[in-house]
Amino acid sequence: MRLTDDQTQLQDSARKLMRRHAPPDVVRELDERRLYPYDLHRAWAEAGLLALAFPEEDGGLGGSVADLLIVGEEISYASPDLFMAFAGNVFCGLNIARKGSPAQRRAWLPKLMAGELRMAISMSEPGAGSDVGAIQTHAVRDGAGWRINGQKLWCTGAGADNTLLNIYLRTDREAPYRKGLSLMLVENDAEGVELRRCDMLGRRATGTYEVFLKDVYVDDSRIIGGLNQGWDCAMSGLQIERDRFLREQYGRVARGG
Ligand SMILES: Cc1cc2nc3c(=O)[nH]c(=O)nc-3n(C[C@H](O)[C@H](O)[C@H](O)COP(=O)(O)OP(=O)(O)OC[C@H]3O[C@@H](n4cnc5c(N)ncnc54)[C@H](O)[C@@H]3O)c2cc1C
Repeated sequence: MRLTDDQTQLQDSARKLMRRHAPPDVVRELDERRLYPYDLHRAWAEAGLLALAFPEEDGGLGGSVADLLIVGEEISYASPDLFMAFAGNVFCGLNIARKGSPAQRRAWLPKLMAGELRMAISMSEPGAGSDVGAIQTHAVRDGAGWRINGQKLWCTGAGADNTLLNIYLRTDREAPYRKGLSLMLVENDAEGVELRRCDMLGRRATGTYEVFLKDVYVDDSRIIGGLNQGWDCAMSGLQIERDRFLREQYGRVARGG
């Protein structure tokens, strides 16, 4: 891929930032002591890297997929574990940029880009890995809101401070398979949320968690993309990790989907 002058400058800045904030001894310490990279996350926010992929109308920098790829490569060179601390936030936020209402975009995206808020994707379950449609965690109507019950697995970054879990769950248990799923945002310290850190061989700084949800309450403002539209949200988010990422590498990240 031939880089523009701006992209060469972006690459250089990201490389210098990672050398300064995540040299090998720091990466080793974060890994050995299972510490979330808070300082590095702050540095990403201050350098505008968390805002890079977001549309300008949401306060982002309107970067392309190629720009995101350049930064991702520099972070991953230091540590693929640290890349997930970066990407978990960006991928969840892009779902909100694509599928959220104007009010939801205003509520969450500026804080995410400023590094004041983190996000973690919570799709997988003990019985729903590749087969996302098999999700059993569910929410039922309770007055003006919803009660969530179930168990999630492999939620990377779920234990960091100020993290909103982006939880895929069933809101219509009668609907067939991929229908009846919704995406809801839940604080990781909300009443009824219990996190258990998994003992992993890798990704030990960002951390990967089991998430247990017992009668967790949320209101309608936490549903992203509309009720029972979770499958569309999941697919629009996963596309950027798959074929569209390559086909549209010169396109804007948050476009369509
Ligand atoms: C380190 C780590 C971090 C993760 N972080 C997150 C996260 O942040 N959020 C989240 O939601 N999930 C996360 N995951 C979960 C990850 O997305 C799942 O592991 C993945 O979806 C696979 O699911 P599974 O592990 O249940 O394996 P399974 O789906 O049970 O698959 C097991 C094997 O069977 C194969 N297989 C499955 N179905 C088929 C089929 N139809 N045809 C042929 N082969 C098939 C698979 O390729 C695989 O080799 C993480 C996983 C790991 C290991």
